[in-house]
Amino acid sequence: MINFNVPPYTGKEVEYMKEAIGNQKICGDGPFTKKCNEWIEKQCGTAKCLLTTSCTHATEMAALLADIREGDEVILPSYTFVSTANAFVLRGARAVFVDIRPDTMNIDETLIEDAVTERTRVIAPVHYAGVGCEMDVIMDIARRHNLMVVEDAAQGIMASYRGKALGTFGEFGCFSFHETKNFSMGEGGALLIRDEKYIETAEIFREKGTDRSKYYRGQVDKYRWQDYGSSYLPGDLNAAYLYAQLELAEEITQARMDRWKQYKELLAPLAEEGKAELPFIPEHCSHNAHMFYIKTKDLEERSRLIGFLKDKGIMAVSHYVPLHSAPAGKKFGRFHGEDKYTTKESDRLLRLPMYYKLTADEVEYITEQVKDFYGASR
Ligand SMILES: *Cc1c(COP(=O)(O)O)cnc(C)c1O
Repeated sequence: MINFNVPPYTGKEVEYMKEAIGNQKICGDGPFTKKCNEWIEKQCGTAKCLLTTSCTHATEMAALLADIREGDEVILPSYTFVSTANAFVLRGARAVFVDIRPDTMNIDETLIEDAVTERTRVIAPVHYAGVGCEMDVIMDIARRHNLMVVEDAAQGIMASYRGKALGTFGEFGCFSFHETKNFSMGEGGALLIRDEKYIETAEIFREKGTDRSKYYRGQVDKYRWQDYGSSYLPGDLNAAYLYAQLELAEEITQARMDRWKQYKELLAPLAEEGKAELPFIPEHCSHNAHMFYIKTKDLEERSRLIGFLKDKGIMAVSHYVPLHSAPAGKKFGRFHGEDKYTTKESDRLLRLPMYYKLTADEVEYITEQVKDFYGASR
């Protein structure tokens, strides 16, 4: 059986976790958390990175830092994971969904401005599959309307838009290190902060509303309750696990990229014969091979292909059910404009197995089965 995902593992994780135990510092903000934060700051070029317990929590922190209030509105795609919306909905905001582009599955930047109202506070673009949204256009709209930008870059580490790392454009960027992502710590994430002015408040929100971070650095002699907050910091054992993978980030990304390119090459005949569509990467976007998907004719064909591949021992899966069509999406949000592509394209999208240790032979086998299904030339 070829699984859809196998959590990344390099072999060094256990050694680093033992080291964390030896440090006698397994709570949050230990040595490995610092290493991860510094690595990400350097890799991405951002003022500050704070490791969090999930991307969901990083986005919740961003909503707190943006001071989202009851009745505020956030503009986002409907084709995303629930957390992009929930983080703001938790603060009383309404989700305003706009359509996606069929080529990248990202928010259609040309439709955003029309959705802006007096209540709009934030634009939350999602970099689907680690392929950048049109950030030049999005940042320009945000500037002109005085809006904040919170990037859901859950899938976007090691990817860039016009040479700049995803997650570093907006006031805040959010990474995920869930086991399904390119680098993992089981459950985990990171908040990227662009402007230094937010760092102190972010540290307080993350440390239960206290200035314990300052206390740890020896900047105050006792820590006190400063503001509201919660516990958004992961234990150092999880950070140790993640650090082993960050050290090998180039190698892991290259391995994924090799498989991604192999998929694209071997399935090219399908696209040429007009039988299925393959992912599109804009020229100015450098992606991270987070995902390889194909688009079938419609929902019915996708279901048949999933069943066909399952019979051949291959796990291929669909993705998001558009938020606006889900119970909570109807309660907490509205779709602005026409749903021209969100539902239609999400019904067609099928993700093929993609993970660090996926082999060339496996990709060859998978693509042969897909081509068999379509009766395409090999
Ligand atoms: C994985 C993912 C999340 C959630 O990440 P967690 O770390 O599990 O909270 C949010 N948004 C997108 C687009 C994701 O892919």
